[in-house]
Amino acid sequence: MSMRGLQYHGAQDIRYNTEIPVPEVTNPNDVIVKVAYCGICGTDLHEFEVPIFFANATTKEGDRISGKQLPLVLGHEFSGIVQAVGANVTKVTPGDHVVVETTGHCSDRREYFKYNTEEPECQSCELGYENTCKDLNFLGLGVDNGALAEYTKYHQDHVLKVDKKIPLDVDALIEPLSVVYHAVELAGFKEGEDALVLGSGPIGLATLLILQAKGASKVVVSEPASVRREQAVKLGAVGFNPFEFGENATEELRKLGSRGQGFAKAFDCSGIPATYTTSIHALRAHGVACNVAIWPHKSVAHYVMDVTLEEKTSVGSLGYQTKDFKGVIELLESGKLDVEKVKSLITGKVGLKEGVTKGFKELIEHKDKHIKILVSPDL
Ligand SMILES: [Zn+2]
Ligand SMILES: [Zn+2]
Repeated sequence: MSMRGLQYHGAQDIRYNTEIPVPEVTNPNDVIVKVAYCGICGTDLHEFEVPIFFANATTKEGDRISGKQLPLVLGHEFSGIVQAVGANVTKVTPGDHVVVETTGHCSDRREYFKYNTEEPECQSCELGYENTCKDLNFLGLGVDNGALAEYTKYHQDHVLKVDKKIPLDVDALIEPLSVVYHAVELAGFKEGEDALVLGSGPIGLATLLILQAKGASKVVVSEPASVRREQAVKLGAVGFNPFEFGENATEELRKLGSRGQGFAKAFDCSGIPATYTTSIHALRAHGVACNVAIWPHKSVAHYVMDVTLEEKTSVGSLGYQTKDFKGVIELLESGKLDVEKVKSLITGKVGLKEGVTKGFKELIEHKDKHIKILVSPDL
C-alpha cells in the first residue's frame, strides 16, 4: 500500500510523492497515526533553505538516533487519529485523537537499534533532560518519516491522547504551544506574575497564550512590525513598539511592569542582540530572562553586572518533553487555554499536493500575512 506525502531530498528540494509506502507496525510499541493536520514551522523553513536537523540523514551513517537516510517525510507538529497499534500498546486505541511529542533521543536510539547498540545514554538523558540529548532530533526532521503525509508512526511513549471535544486543527498547535510551555515552566513563572514577550511571531503569540492560561497578571508584547503587534493586542496583550521610543525603549518598557520597575519574567522570541539585552534590562530584581529563539551563530556583548546587581537569571529553553505536552493538553481540556484564541493562530489550510507552493513558499514570501499554515491530507 502506498500513500501521498512530502519528502525532503535536500535544500530547496521537497517533492510530492504518491508512492510512499504506508507505515506498518514493526515494533510492538508502534502507534500508526492517520494524520489530520500538520503545521509548517520556522524550523521546516530553515531546513528548506539548508539542512540542519536533516544533516546527519544526508551521510552514510544516517541519522544519529535512527540511522535513517534521505529522502524522509517532513512534518513534526501534527494531530491525527490512531489507525493501528502494536501488541504492547496500552496508552491509546484505534479511533483516539492524538498528538505526538516528536523528540528522538537516547532511549529512541535503543528502539531503532534494538539488538546492536552498546552506546550508553548521554548525560542529559540520564539526568532526565531528554530535550537536551546530545543527539536530539525530531520525527519529521531526520529521525524518521514525519506527518506531511497520510500516515505516520512512532513509539507509544511519544503519543498522547486528546479529548475529542478539542478540534483536530487546534490539536495540531499543541506542539508549538509545548515549546513555549517548556520555556514558561523553565523560567519558573508563577500565577499572578507579569511578563514581557519580545517578538510577536508564531512563538511569541503562543507564549502570550500560555502565559494568559497560567494566570499572568499582565503580558506586554514588544514588536516593531505593526501587523504582528496588532495580532498580540487582539489576543489580549499590551502592545509596545520599541521603535517609537528609540534609545529610551527599555526604560519605557520597565515602566509597564507591575510596579513600574520591570517584569518578573521576559521571553526572547526574536533572537537578535537587541531583544536579548532588553530581556535582561527590562526585568525587575530576581527576574528571569528566558531565550526561546534559535540563534544564528552570532554573539552578544554582555555586561555581567547587568544580571549580578539585581540577582537576575538568564536561561535558554530548548524544545520540550512529554510532560510539557501533558501540561498544554490539560490547559486546553480545562478551558484555561482558550480554544478559539488558539484557532485564531491558524491563518491557512492547504492540501498535501500544494504544500510547497501554498505552504512553504507562501510562508517565506508573505511572512507578515501568516501565523500558522496547516497542511491536511484530506484537503
Ligand atoms: Zn516546529
Ligand atoms: Zn541522550
